[in-house]
Parts: sequence; C-alpha cells; structure tokens
Amino acid sequence: MNDNQPHITIIGAGVSGLTAAVTLQNAGYKATVYDANSFVGGRVSSDATSGLILDHGFQVMLDAYPAVNEFLDIEALKLRKFVPGSLIFKDGKTHKLGDPTRDSSFLWSTITAGVGSLKDKWLVYSLSRKLKQKSIHDIFTSPETTTKIYLENYGFSKKMIASFFTPFYTGIFLETKLATSSRMFEFVFKMFTEGNATIPAGGIKAIPEQLAAQLPEDSMHLNHKVTAVIGNEISLENGEKIKSDYTIVATPAGDLVPNLPNENMPWHQVTVLYFETDHTGLDQAIIGLVANDDVLINNFHFLNDVFDNHRNIISVSVIKKHQLSDQQLTERVVKELREETHIKANELVKLYHIKKALPQLDSLNYCMNASETQLTDSVFLAGDQLSNGSLNAAMLNGKAAANAVISKIEGSVIL
Ligand SMILES: Cc1cc2nc3c(=O)[nH]c(=O)nc-3n(C[C@H](O)[C@H](O)[C@H](O)COP(=O)(O)OP(=O)(O)OC[C@H]3O[C@@H](n4cnc5c(N)ncnc54)[C@H](O)[C@@H]3O)c2cc1C
Repeated sequence: MNDNQPHITIIGAGVSGLTAAVTLQNAGYKATVYDANSFVGGRVSSDATSGLILDHGFQVMLDAYPAVNEFLDIEALKLRKFVPGSLIFKDGKTHKLGDPTRDSSFLWSTITAGVGSLKDKWLVYSLSRKLKQKSIHDIFTSPETTTKIYLENYGFSKKMIASFFTPFYTGIFLETKLATSSRMFEFVFKMFTEGNATIPAGGIKAIPEQLAAQLPEDSMHLNHKVTAVIGNEISLENGEKIKSDYTIVATPAGDLVPNLPNENMPWHQVTVLYFETDHTGLDQAIIGLVANDDVLINNFHFLNDVFDNHRNIISVSVIKKHQLSDQQLTERVVKELREETHIKANELVKLYHIKKALPQLDSLNYCMNASETQLTDSVFLAGDQLSNGSLNAAMLNGKAAANAVISKIEGSVIL
C-alpha cells in the first residue's frame, strides 16, 4: 500500500464487510479485513466436500434483491431456482400452493388446496399486485405492526394464516409467532413475487466467496479476532495492535467499541439436520412445509432437487424451541418425517445449531444512509443488524459505511 493512502480496516468478512471492501476498492482504496473465523462469509457458509453441499442453515438469495444485482455476477453463481410455491403437509394430506401467474402448473392445485378459502387465494393475488406497485421506500416508511396482525387486518382467514403463512414465514423470519415487522413481510413478499428464491450451484457460500475473490489476497486476515477498537487503535486477540485511520465494524460493535451500550442483542436461532434418504425427491426444487402445531419440523427440501447430481439428502429446519438433546431431536425429526410426510430418513449426515442466525429487531429500516453509519471521527458501522436480517441489508450497509469513509477521506459531505 502506498504510504500516502489512509489505513482502512474492516472488522468482519461477512457479506457486509466484504461489500464494504469491494466498494472501497472500486473507488481506489484498499482496506485490510480481519475476521475471527477461518473462512469468509460469516453467517453465509457451507460445507462443500465429498460431493455434498451442506449450507449452515437453509437460506436463499432472492434474486430480486436490488443489492445482489449491484454487487454480484449473478450468471457466474449459476443460481438454482425454487419453484414459486410450496408443498404443505397437514393432517395427513398434501396441498400444493403456488403463484399460478408465474407457473401455470400451480393453478388447479392452488384453487383446490384445502389450506384456505377461495377468498384467501384471491387475497394472495391482490396482495402480490399491491406490493408489486408499492415502492421499497414506501414499504419501509409505512407504519409497522406484526406480520400476524398485518395478515389478519388484510382479511386472511385463521386457517390460511395457520396452514400457510405461519410455516412459510417462520422459515424465513426464524420465529414462530409472526412477530416480525410487517415492513419485512411486505418487502420479502414483494421480492418473492418479483423474482426467485435461489441458491448458487456451489452452495450459499459461493456468494461471499465471489465478493472475496475481487479483493487482493493479502488484504484478508482470517483467524484474527479483534478485541477492541479504541480511537485509531485496533487490538487483536493475539496481542497485536494496529493503527487504523478509518475502521468499519461490520458486526455488532457493542463488545468492541467503548461507551456503546453493550448491545446484548437477541437473535433468532435455527437447527438444520441433513439426512441420507432413499427418497428421490419431489421432482422439482420446492419447499415442503409441515403445518402442525405439535410438530418440530418447520420446513424441508431435497438437495438432489436443487443441485445437479447430488446424493439423495433431505435438509430439515427446526425453529420451534425444545429441550431435546441432539440424539433425541434426530430421532424425533425422523419420526415426524415418517408420520407427517411419509418420507423415510436414513442416517444423519450433519446437524448444525445456528444460535445467532437473524438479529431480532423491533423496528426495521431498509438500509442505512452513509451518514448514519458514522459512529466517531474514525469508526463506522455496517452489518445487517443495523437494518433488517437479509443479504440485501448486509450488502447495502457495507456499501453505505464504505461510502461514508470515502466521503470523509475526500472531504466531501457524507450523505
Ligand atoms: C440460517 C440462516 C438463514 C438465513 N436466511 C436468509 C435468507 O433466506 N435470505 C437472506 O437474505 N438472508 C438470510 N439470512 C441472513 C443473512 O445471512 C445475513 O443477513 C447476512 O449474512 C449478514 O451478514 P453480515 O456481514 O452483516 O454479518 P455476519 O455474516 O454475521 O458477519 C460478521 C462477521 O464478523 C466476524 N466477527 C465478529 N466479531 C468479530 C471480531 N471480534 N473480530 C473479528 N471478526 C469478527 C464474524 O466472524 C463474521 O464473519 C440467514 C442467516 C442465517 C444464519
């Protein structure tokens, strides 16, 4: 690095920190990135070995997210798309519900699906039309209520909320009460109607890896945990001290920066279990939902339906709280799969508990303005937790913090 260049440090090589680094690089500035983990991506990670692609928790990239189209080479990710619908397993019956305006094969099954009235299905259609026309700005400046109250006020029946919206959005919000802000519901619903739920062919980790590949290798310091950021000095767990003119903290900063209220932010958690199965899948990449209050399984899909030539593996997400050991949970999930869906799961391949999956936020915004990311003269904040738990917010907040640093260096007004 040229010595006249400011020293810029980013703490966190998650999607937000990486997007900040890419934004700085595109403006001609090099940043040094530190991460405590041995890999890039933070919460966006996969184990991809021996022909298996096991994401750390089921997550999808909605290809309508504005930020992914700005920062990612979508074509290179070779996205695998889920069909715009789901299979609902309820009281021994299977119902197929989807968006017939995008996939006509859903028309008849959706009309006849016994998970809601015809009025409910009409309301889904009218909501998708309404949200297509509502701008993202209008969504995030609308008054907030919970998703549950929003759906009730919109006129959906209790049956439709219990059988479809609750399991579907529990799988997205990672909480079972639909207590998440109606702004997030509207945003996610809009993204689903305008695009597809996708996973890159190489697994979800291909997203941060593509971002990291744009950065010089020597800028990335993995296995380097930061313990404090005080003024222009950064302390590492290994005892090193680093001088930094501008620092972007792309993770909750409460433990690192003095005088911040120690955030102790609550998180939503999820457990995902991967099983071998003889089942050949559902013939299409579709999400299965189990709509039964007494059942722990929330949603599942087959990796062999998503990835080319993948072994027959089923991925099952458990979101409800329980006190079971891993062994008990595994046995319970196998039993529930058999009883609720008639799918026989063989041996467990892997189980991941993700304790800090999504930040539990009371009030949501779309993303930060650059000026809002500035904490002190030299410290800036990024990360999804500042706005809403999504790849989109993580990227946009990384970009905003980087733009604030650029304005500061160049002496322009931070917008
Ligand atoms: C199971 C699951 C499902 C999800 N589903 C979806 C979905 O379907 N769609 C969607 O859009 N989003 C989803 N998300 C959310 C999405 O993954 C996050 O919004 C995004 O990854 C947040 O990125 P980030 O960079 O802000 O944070 P993180 O990924 O948490 O990155 C923070 C980084 O900082 C590092 N770090 C923390 N402290 C230190 C320290 N002291 N020193 C050095 N490094 C440190 C961490 O190791 C980490 O790499 C899901 C997340 C999970 C876990």
